[in-house]
Amino acid sequence: MSKVFITTSIPYVNAEPHIGFAMELAQGDALARYYRAKLGEDQVFFLNGTDEHGSKIDKKAKETGIEPQKFVDRITQKFIDLGKALNISNDDFVRTTSDRHKKSATDLWRRCQKDIYKKNYKGLYCSGCEEFKTEKELVDGLCPVHRTKPEPVEEENYFFALSKYAPKLRELIESDELKITPELRKNEVLGWLREGVQDISVSREKLKLSWGIPVPGDPDQVMYVWVDALSNYITGAGFPDSHEKWWNEETLKIHVVGKDILRFHAIIWPGLLLSAGLPLPNIIYAHGHITSDNQKMSKSLGNVIDPFSLIQKYGADAVRYYLLAKIPWDDDGDFSSDKFQAVYKGELSDNWGNLLNRLVVLGGKSKSQISDLKSQNIGSNPELAGFRFNNFIEKQITELARINREINETEPWKLITSEPDKAKKIIEKWLQDYYQISQELSFVAPRSFEKVEKAYSTGQAVQLFPRVEW
Ligand SMILES: [Zn+2]
Repeated sequence: MSKVFITTSIPYVNAEPHIGFAMELAQGDALARYYRAKLGEDQVFFLNGTDEHGSKIDKKAKETGIEPQKFVDRITQKFIDLGKALNISNDDFVRTTSDRHKKSATDLWRRCQKDIYKKNYKGLYCSGCEEFKTEKELVDGLCPVHRTKPEPVEEENYFFALSKYAPKLRELIESDELKITPELRKNEVLGWLREGVQDISVSREKLKLSWGIPVPGDPDQVMYVWVDALSNYITGAGFPDSHEKWWNEETLKIHVVGKDILRFHAIIWPGLLLSAGLPLPNIIYAHGHITSDNQKMSKSLGNVIDPFSLIQKYGADAVRYYLLAKIPWDDDGDFSSDKFQAVYKGELSDNWGNLLNRLVVLGGKSKSQISDLKSQNIGSNPELAGFRFNNFIEKQITELARINREINETEPWKLITSEPDKAKKIIEKWLQDYYQISQELSFVAPRSFEKVEKAYSTGQAVQLFPRVEW
């Protein structure tokens, strides 16, 4: 494998970005930066985007009294802003309302045509929501939003023969040819496949869903979310004209998604790709969710964490660090102000930040040429390549703590006078190790590493994580 193509999921722009998506961006970005350092800048493509069609958005826009396009423009800008605020190094950002994407989705539909057929669709329709509800979405048989009973409605829609691909998908997932990670999620997907996969409805009548991409050759039907949204990943690769450079069998293709949308990515998306005769992704990594003070975030509880204000106050690196270090890679995790502040002060400011200045001072005293002590090796990172972000960081932080401890035990300021040669040797080893660790952490906290670089070049102390008034 010499090239890597990484995507984050495409959030639905009916609501503003939340902290969970900030984590997903940070995860994808850490992977992209790691692979770029390992394989070369132009060997990696990192894609972000937004999912912008559907009746929910149409309805919200109408309620707000603006055109749906204007509505999605406004929310999408916030997702773009979040990427910038977090210092995300994406190579492209694909919106599903863009012309290039409409072309891509339409082409994917055509390539799947042999598996698409018309059938009566029976569903429970809430006229308030203007959408079909699944039994699972209902609460006591009622629409959870409107508290009304949805009407049984029958209409003719297009279906995709997903069931046809279920045996093949099972084989690919069992053998890890299509790797679902963590293992718990893989088993979940295999469970769904064992329960049986039905063909899926992939269109709606235009009267019920006008805000979407028309079905090719049938102006009365509009694509439902599956073909419309999932094709975003190949649009970013250049589909249908120039995708072979990235979307090919040789490139390692990774989707980073939340566990709540794993089913679509692990079953429907590969099913569509198999039908279209296109390569499948290699790895789908599904992360968990974030609670706030151990409670689900909700507006009514007033415990929603705004990623923007957090970044503004503490900087992108600290937020990225917390999300990758303290939310377990394979489970849900918690955010609280107290924990965040403890991590900022302890692990970042004291352990990583102050150590830099300790070492720079010692380097000066022992007459070491600090700028020569930059080792340029990117280590092999099985933890990072395996999405175990928190284990990866833990390893680096333990190493930083080790250096801090050795300094306290060795008391090098005394040794510099008594045994200057020995002191110089020890201090230079610490400086080398510190640089190496900081370089590894650059995938997580890139701006802090730039500061470390500066300190090494100039021999001057730099504050990595300045004091913040809580
Ligand atoms: Zn409703």
